[in-house]
Amino acid sequence: MPLALKKVPEKPILERLDLCKVTRDSATHVTHICVVDLSYNHRNIPWIVCGSINIRDENTFDICAYLLDAVDQEHDSAKAFCIPILGLKFKYATSGSFCFEAYIHPRDPEGFRVPTSADELLKGAKPCKNCSYNYEDPHIITEYIPKPNPMLYELLRGCKIDITTGPRSNYVTE
Ligand SMILES: [Zn+2]
Repeated sequence: MPLALKKVPEKPILERLDLCKVTRDSATHVTHICVVDLSYNHRNIPWIVCGSINIRDENTFDICAYLLDAVDQEHDSAKAFCIPILGLKFKYATSGSFCFEAYIHPRDPEGFRVPTSADELLKGAKPCKNCSYNYEDPHIITEYIPKPNPMLYELLRGCKIDITTGPRSNYVTE
């Protein structure tokens, strides 16, 4: 199945999205998701940085990260983002970090749930009081998942991404 490989527009159209403060395990884990610019020597354009991620096989694969100490009205863990992907490929592992590449699913605008900022995720969130679930830690109630983001999806659908995830201490900054 051919994928629509596109040139990635230059910054500032693709804004970096730092979700470290609002995603799980950020103290010990870091994940970098970059968009690969196929038209420019396969340069990695930094996009999302966050704590730990989950990669799940739900008919097609997706990548998601959970919000820190946040649940929805039903007390299901709330997600910070979800990116449907195709062509997931393991690249390498080193010192506990794993690197994968994949393509953003070109035909799943509803599944592409990426916020514009960390603040957007916490807008309207309320502390959970009198919790009947006996959670030990304080937590907030918010939406289960961000809304679809059609403008960003149109920019990135079919683009190749590079995902590196592992212990925070291993990451060497640029
Ligand atoms: Zn609660």
